[in-house]
Amino acid sequence: MSKEGIDTFVLKLHSRCNLNCRYCNIYNGADTSYALQPARMTPETAEALARRIREYKRADRDSLVTLVFHGGEPLLVGRRHFENILERLAGILGSGYRWTCQTNGVLLDRHWVDLFAAWDVSVGISLDGPAQHHDHSRVDAKGQGSHAAAVQAIRLLQSTAVGRRLFSGTIGVINLACPPEELFEHLIELGIERAEILLPDSHWGSPPPVPQNAITTCYGEYLSQLFDCWLVSGAKVRVGFFEACWRLMSGQKTCHEFWGLAPLSVAVVDADGSLEIHDAFRMCADGLTKQAGLNVHTHPIVALETSPLMGALLSPQSHLGEQCAQCSWCNVCGGGMPAHRWSPSSGLLKPSVYCESIKKFLTHVRAAATIYHLSVG
Ligand code: SF4
Ligand code: SF4
Repeated sequence: MSKEGIDTFVLKLHSRCNLNCRYCNIYNGADTSYALQPARMTPETAEALARRIREYKRADRDSLVTLVFHGGEPLLVGRRHFENILERLAGILGSGYRWTCQTNGVLLDRHWVDLFAAWDVSVGISLDGPAQHHDHSRVDAKGQGSHAAAVQAIRLLQSTAVGRRLFSGTIGVINLACPPEELFEHLIELGIERAEILLPDSHWGSPPPVPQNAITTCYGEYLSQLFDCWLVSGAKVRVGFFEACWRLMSGQKTCHEFWGLAPLSVAVVDADGSLEIHDAFRMCADGLTKQAGLNVHTHPIVALETSPLMGALLSPQSHLGEQCAQCSWCNVCGGGMPAHRWSPSSGLLKPSVYCESIKKFLTHVRAAATIYHLSVG
């Protein structure tokens, strides 16, 4: 098991959302537990979490801990409540923590930016790509797209020095209908400096969305084309997914939730204080993330470490199936995002549901590295 243990806590400040994205793993996946959650995390729950983190940190761990304010949509809690939560957390934790907020951007205004600036909370905006593609998936309850609001939020952050300092970049889910060149050009046009890409939450019980008659490696083809755009631009936009893959292929160490064999050291704290594994697993089975039955009001964080699924995420190498363990790409791929390996019958023991695409992509990256005369092992 990882010596450092859990180093990232995702706080579900609000359990509802002002959007209803078609692929959302909270509202449109297998898990339905959001419906039983209180709308907002209370300051008392935030305090209980802070005490648990403090006690956990004392147990000989010194990596920088990140608190991610998340939802649903975290800004729905309102600024006063958000600040109250920050005050309660800071009152117990003190300094030495990294705070970040992931929002769909719809409610972001200059008052929110002022609040984030005052508390040094960095801000990520969810953006899938150009309007036509973003608005296909990221819709509100009436089916209206949210691209304009996301772009407005990005522009707002980019309009001041403090906003630019706080803006940690965009996160978007790959949509095969959006040509990779268009996606990359859109990021450049918007002046995005950092972007993260995600493959759609999928597993063996719920395979990835693909167009009719698509080839099995279609995500690998897509990633390869997007990678070429990135490489040709001189890595003008920092894309964590590509950078981590590149580093691992060069024999360097890195931590990334998709690539490599580093622990997935993330815990999620739901609005009622439930202490859970990574919420990508909400797509896999109802109640799976809450299987250990833990809550920060009643359990120490170390109890999550000892739950079987969290144990597997913290020591990935010893929980790979045979196919991944014997795969020549294992040091780079590491079996991919663990939730993508989930199968109702064998847990995490299968390869990634994206395995063929991953191999296609890694073969492409290796060839590109050779062409560009870069030292890849
Ligand atoms: S903004 Fe996030 S939480 Fe809200 S529906 Fe979309 S994916 Fe889900
Ligand atoms: S998911 Fe596929 S490419 Fe990745 S390590 Fe497993 S077998 Fe290899």
